Order: sequence, then C-alpha cells, then structure tokens
Amino acid sequence: MQIACKDSFYYRIQWNMLDRMLRRGMYAVNSQEGIAWKRPYWPFFSILGTMQRQIALQGICYDSKASYLKGAALAPPLIRKAYHSASSNYFPESGTELGPGVFNDLGDFTIADYFDIEQVSAENLGKGEGLVSLGGDHSITYPIVRAFHKLYGPLQILHIDAHADLYDEFNGDRYSHACPFARIMENQLASRLVQVGLRTLSSHQRDQARKYKVECIEMKDLNIAQLPEFNGPIYISLDMDALDPAFAPGVSHHEPGGLDTRQLIHMVQKLNVPVIGADIVEYNPLRDNNDMTAMVCAKLLKEIVDKMLEK
Ligand code: MN
Ligand code: MN
Repeated sequence: MQIACKDSFYYRIQWNMLDRMLRRGMYAVNSQEGIAWKRPYWPFFSILGTMQRQIALQGICYDSKASYLKGAALAPPLIRKAYHSASSNYFPESGTELGPGVFNDLGDFTIADYFDIEQVSAENLGKGEGLVSLGGDHSITYPIVRAFHKLYGPLQILHIDAHADLYDEFNGDRYSHACPFARIMENQLASRLVQVGLRTLSSHQRDQARKYKVECIEMKDLNIAQLPEFNGPIYISLDMDALDPAFAPGVSHHEPGGLDTRQLIHMVQKLNVPVIGADIVEYNPLRDNNDMTAMVCAKLLKEIVDKMLEK
C-alpha cells in the first residue's frame, strides 16, 4: 500500500474511503495486492451495507417569537411538499439522487413552550447522521443549537441572514427571533460564528458583534469567491430573508439588496468541511407567490443534505 503524507490529496482520499467503508459495515484487510474491503458476518452486514445513510428531518411549527408577522409556523409541511413536488426531481446539482429514503422524516412538531424545542431536537438528533430542522421563526435556532452543543460541544456556525439577530433583547423578549445569536454567543455554544448576507446592522448589533467576536460579512462587502474557510464540522442556519425579496418573496421581513439564489447555492456547494446540522427558517407561506419561496427552500434543502452526506 502506498503511504501518503498527512496533508496530501491521497491521504484525504484514503481517509474518506475508510470512513465510507466503515459506515457500510466493511473492514479493510492488507493483502499482497493492497487493501481489500471485506464485509464480515454476511448476510447481516451485507444488509447493513446496503442501507441508505439517512438525515433526520424535523419540522418546528413555531412562530410565537416573530416580532413583525406570524406565518412561519405554517412552513414545514409546505417545504416538504415542494421537495417532493413532481415539478422537479430528487437530484441536487452534484448528480447524487436524494429521494425520500434519504430522510428519517420525524414529522412536524407543534410547540407549546419555547424551551420544548430543545427537548424535541435532542430526541431527534440521534435518529440520523445529522439533523435538519424546517422552521419556524429564527428563535428556534437557539434551543436547537443547545441540543447540538450537548452532543458535540461548541460548534462552528455559518449563519446566512439579512439580519444579525444579535439583539440582547427585542420588544422586551430575550428569546425573540431577533436575539438567538446573542443567546448562543453569551452561553458559549459556538466556537465561531460567521454571518453572511447582513444588511441591517444597527449600532447596538455592531457592538454585540464586537463583544462576541462575530465575523460579519455584510452584503455591501460580499465577495462570494472569498468567504471565510472553516476548519471543522459546521452547523448552517439559513434565514430565507438572506435572499433578495425578488428571489424569495415569502418571508416576513422584505429587505432589499440581498443574495441571489445562485450565490447562496454556490456558498453551500463550496463548503469543504462536514455539515452536521442545519436549519431553514423564516419562510412565511402567507407572503409567498405561487409557492415560489417554498421551492427555493426545497432546492436549498436538497443542496444542504447533499453536502451533509458528502463527508
Ligand atoms: Mn434571522
Ligand atoms: Mn432575517
């Protein structure tokens, strides 16, 4: 067997292969011809080996912490419907088919108490290789990240949004959808927070960003080819109002001057670290035109899940 040095392309490829083979219940043996992959205890491991890797999917029907308009609680079933719509197919742009079997779809959860979201997410987190949440207003990200933190420790987070959501409190509520990233940073749940797409930073939020050492990439400075690189697994929090309202009208807060859909897809496709979880939030069906934004959510869901299964 050829021995490759640690940072080389071949080393990474070999580790990637090893990881994939082990996940399928296979093990490696050294033979004179090189490494061979065996599947032990056939047929048990043979069945295991053909099982599809699954991502856990939960819908969080909750918009009680939206400050301006309600409606995001209606989003999860409509994003699913768009994902399975016959108007498109199950292929992300990489060409790997992501049919219904790719999800362990745990259904939609109607939330009575805000803090129940953490418990629901903690239970669902073990039911797949990663967990994707369909929101819901953006307040749901704080309890979801709490559940992730219990399992993984501090996370690196990529937060894509028109807004920084860093208010210490908003309209008297510290858990408003304008506050989740203040709570996440204050409780040291993230080792790094990179925000992309911002175009509404208030002076208070600039102070908060400095205080918590948040890396803010504002739309006015965006160079899509030069985004910060991550050095470990990340969690993606995608607020649909990061997109320009021309591309995603179905959101509560129309903030002009945003990302276009192609830029957003490009950002996801260019990630070169494992993605362990994600949320897609703030889709408001009551503001949508002909379910256009639901389809954008479904497209992003497909690209994000493809990225989650890549590593
Ligand atoms: Mn947000
Ligand atoms: Mn937003």
